[in-house]
Amino acid sequence: MHQEKEYKCQSCFQNNSVSIEMTFCSETVDVIEDCTVCCNPNSISYTVENEKVVYFEVVKTY
Ligand SMILES: [Zn+2]
Repeated sequence: MHQEKEYKCQSCFQNNSVSIEMTFCSETVDVIEDCTVCCNPNSISYTVENEKVVYFEVVKTY
């Protein structure tokens, strides 16, 4: 099961969306997503508990 979540690109600050895998329960997942506007990568960390996103952070990838 997936859920789309919006995030702001840390390079150009435009809205993007990332597909979150809801089955990784209580694990912090790190993914790198390329911005659809400026193509710069963003490092996204998230934690899912009981099918809810309890932690979500986007940082610029260097
Ligand atoms: Zn961008």
